[in-house]
Amino acid sequence: MTDLQIFFDEKLRLPSPPSIALKILEAVREEDNSFDDLAQIIKSDPSLSIRILKVANSSLYGLSRPVSSLSQATSLIGTDALKNIALSFVIVQEFQNAPQGSFDLDHFWRRAITAAVAAEVLGKAVGHRDQDLFVSGLLQDIGVLILFISQPDNYTTVLDEKRVSGESTSVAEKNQFGFDHTEVGHFLLNSWNLPESINQPIRYHHSAEDAEEVHQNSAMVLGGADMIAAMYHSVHSNKKSIEVHSVVDKQWQLSGEEVDELIDRVGEQSREILELFAIDPGKIKPFSQIMQDANEELGELNFSYEQIVLELKQAKQNADQLALELQQANSKFRELAYRDGLTGVYNHRYFQKVFKTELERAVRYKHPVSLLMLDIDFFKKVNDTYGHTVGDDILRDVSAVFVRQVRNCDIVARYGGEEFTIILPDTGATDAKVLSMRLRRGIEQEKFECGGQIVSVTISIGISSTDMEGLEPTRASLIECSDQALYRAKENGRNRVELGRP
Ligand code: GH3
Ligand code: MG
Ligand code: MG
Repeated sequence: MTDLQIFFDEKLRLPSPPSIALKILEAVREEDNSFDDLAQIIKSDPSLSIRILKVANSSLYGLSRPVSSLSQATSLIGTDALKNIALSFVIVQEFQNAPQGSFDLDHFWRRAITAAVAAEVLGKAVGHRDQDLFVSGLLQDIGVLILFISQPDNYTTVLDEKRVSGESTSVAEKNQFGFDHTEVGHFLLNSWNLPESINQPIRYHHSAEDAEEVHQNSAMVLGGADMIAAMYHSVHSNKKSIEVHSVVDKQWQLSGEEVDELIDRVGEQSREILELFAIDPGKIKPFSQIMQDANEELGELNFSYEQIVLELKQAKQNADQLALELQQANSKFRELAYRDGLTGVYNHRYFQKVFKTELERAVRYKHPVSLLMLDIDFFKKVNDTYGHTVGDDILRDVSAVFVRQVRNCDIVARYGGEEFTIILPDTGATDAKVLSMRLRRGIEQEKFECGGQIVSVTISIGISSTDMEGLEPTRASLIECSDQALYRAKENGRNRVELGRP
């Protein structure tokens, strides 16, 4: 006794063949009058005959005119085909009533019916005539159903192992049980007395070369049909589609386009047949449609990805623009905070800040920096003579002359009242004196037009510089030194430049 026999006897709860199936098989085996007997049996179940006629009229057989009776059907598609349709119906129906536990019976039949349709379509496409292809395709994995229903825990282990190891179902089954689903299916259908033309291709659908020669082509077609069904009903469809192309090309030399067309036809016709079998067709649709949908989805994903990138870019641009505006506003604000409201030159606060920095830099780089203190002579008198508004105008104009006459890097500030400072970076006492004299002369020569009057003023300037010997390079000592020099300039007659004396 083989392992399989022991297993069958002891462990497998083998379903007995549906009695109507037996009758159908019996009828066909008796060669004479087989159609009459078959028709009789089928007619005993009115819903069965209606469904058989629907299958005969479906696109699977592509008949040129509608068939309305079983005799018409048999003359057009043959008694064998009719028998197979009937057999398929009664077997599926029988198993639909079987206890199934956690087994997804609908999924199983969905795949089985797709395999049956695929076997029929592929058989026709490659010119292999076998009237049993539909029913063989339908039952080729019946062993899986038997194993699962009888040994649900062990079969779950098989599925887990297959998932983990990536082995084929057959290998995983052999590891678990010592035989695979093709052997179980074969054993079952043998026990039901189904003919070898059905049983052999099922037994060898994963290894056609081991089948008896007469059944090899059918086994091969079943193998191809199995792959097409897997493509429609399991994961990695795209990868499986590539496999189908390569197998069909290798075995039957069909072109890529022909294979695509064939695969699509299987999808369309499966939908139709599944409905006749009262099995929910699920999401099955022509493979090209599946691929197109996938591509569209991918396109949409890409599109939305591009959209996101674009929006991000835009948002970043806006943010950059905002940051720039903020920076500009800030520096404007800072500038305003550091400017004197009347004259527009820097204010005292800024002078103190920047003078500190300039001194530090001068010390670090050993460059001199000079400080001028400038005061308008007898300004009180200007105010008294021309009025305070003219006085304001003069302060503005004098500042403008200073700004015009110094370098960009020099810093003109209003120290307070009519007193100004100019910081001269990188400038020693000698150069500071030259510039001071030029400034003094410039103001002296200037004729300020204020309120319709020409006004002239003079200035006195006191100079200090870090390159003066004995002068500490600090804000306090330079301011003090310049201030004293300015005082001396006033004392010595005004409209003068005096160098500080540390
Ligand atoms: P000295 O030659 O000694 O510098 O004489 P002075 O009159 O310029 O000096 P003093 O310090 O006696 O007077 C400064 C005058 O400057 C007094 C004040 O009214 C005027 N002043 C100060 N700030 C402003 C201002 O913002 N606008 C106007 N119009 N006058 C101002
Ligand atoms: Mg003055
Ligand atoms: Mg003064």
